Amino acid sequence: MKLSTFKKGLHPEDYKYFSHDKAIETLPLPDDVYIPLQQHIGVTCEPLVQKGDKVKTGQIIANTSAYVSAPVHSSITGVVKDIEKYYHPLGMRATMIHIHREGEEEWELLDKVDDWKWAPKEKLLETIRNAGLVGLGGATFPTHVKLNPPEDKAIDSFILNGVECEPYLTSDDRLMVEETDKILLGMAIMMHILDVKKGYIGIENNKPEAIAQMQKRVVELGYPFTVVPLKVKYPQGAEKMLIYSVLKRKVPFSKLPMDVGVVVNNVATAFAVAEAITESKPLIQRVITVTGDGVNKPKNLMARLGTPFKNLFESCGNVKDDVYRIFMGGPMMGMTQYHLESPVVKGSSGIVAVTGELVEELSTFPCIRCGACVRTCPMNLMPLRLSKFSQAKEVKKLEEFGIMDCIECGSCSFVCPANIPIVQWIKVGKIRVREEAKKAKEKA
Ligand code: SF4
Ligand code: SF4
Repeated sequence: MKLSTFKKGLHPEDYKYFSHDKAIETLPLPDDVYIPLQQHIGVTCEPLVQKGDKVKTGQIIANTSAYVSAPVHSSITGVVKDIEKYYHPLGMRATMIHIHREGEEEWELLDKVDDWKWAPKEKLLETIRNAGLVGLGGATFPTHVKLNPPEDKAIDSFILNGVECEPYLTSDDRLMVEETDKILLGMAIMMHILDVKKGYIGIENNKPEAIAQMQKRVVELGYPFTVVPLKVKYPQGAEKMLIYSVLKRKVPFSKLPMDVGVVVNNVATAFAVAEAITESKPLIQRVITVTGDGVNKPKNLMARLGTPFKNLFESCGNVKDDVYRIFMGGPMMGMTQYHLESPVVKGSSGIVAVTGELVEELSTFPCIRCGACVRTCPMNLMPLRLSKFSQAKEVKKLEEFGIMDCIECGSCSFVCPANIPIVQWIKVGKIRVREEAKKAKEKA
């Protein structure tokens, strides 16, 4: 059977074998958690607690009235020790609520939704917001916003993203195998909110168990969903690529999936939606893959948000002595980690430790104009130009060449024979464009 996919893209070596067959284990409760106020795209939350306050598991501890945001919850029962700046996995120090675990676990659940099929859409969206749900594939865009597109956007299709194309990650794969029914229920709830009838589940063909399990339960439970096995290719998990792979619809430059009538959500988000709506559980934990050749016992762990990464490694037999690099997320889009005190956040799908055997430190050479980056870019951009304009601080040119359409997939850097850190320059370029826009706004 010819499998569907998108144009361009690449095939990085697959390292899922470290953990793809490791059933999800629940990490023991941590003694301390560090909950960042900012774990999502949008406005940062303000603390609602102070030092010395007792908090329950699931209690909202920081929030904002801004629409594009998501509250954060205590992930354990205990006492607020302080609200200070700690190391954040995104590489900076950020304000976090430090909670020390004390006493028996007590829960504060969300307001109950009696029967989601009959509940008003507003009630479902409010529950999803109160649950603190964001895109758990890594994008961390607030889910209640995504499920409430403007009225002039006619949505006709929903795609559940089970692609997980980053080479090491297996948390979504395991969730699809082990929590199939809850994921399908979450998908049904999201489609109900959007009033969409056509539902597709995109899964890359390197997850045969997940594909078989999803197909089986879709039929047995009578859902009108179509499971779409996809050819393995990076970065197919990016929304625009996935929409093309599944529906052959192209999302134009500067447009969003809703502009072509589609909403995409990740399988872990669907799982969390089902837990929030049918079990009144806010988002206080997630599945995270702890893997790499630098980890003694790779695992998929259900970990409370705010748990320091070092606790996860301890539960996996610790990292080996010759670990060369640790990153959160996959090697293509992930962030290098320098502090293992950094906590699990809503967007942490994996933490990967690699030894020098799998990572080469390569010298950088001048561009030889081979065009490999252009041929690979799934967004049809000119990565070599964007990198140069960024280095030369040519902000107008960066905009002209569509820098903001770059999805930061890292494919251009991956294929570049001159080892130019193209995507890093593009990230810098985006910051420059945003700064210029801010200055222009202030002047106006
Ligand atoms: S320019 Fe952006 S979208 Fe294109 S390959 Fe590079 S990182 Fe990916
Ligand atoms: S892949 Fe590297 S060397 Fe080739 S054109 Fe792009 S930037 Fe230049």
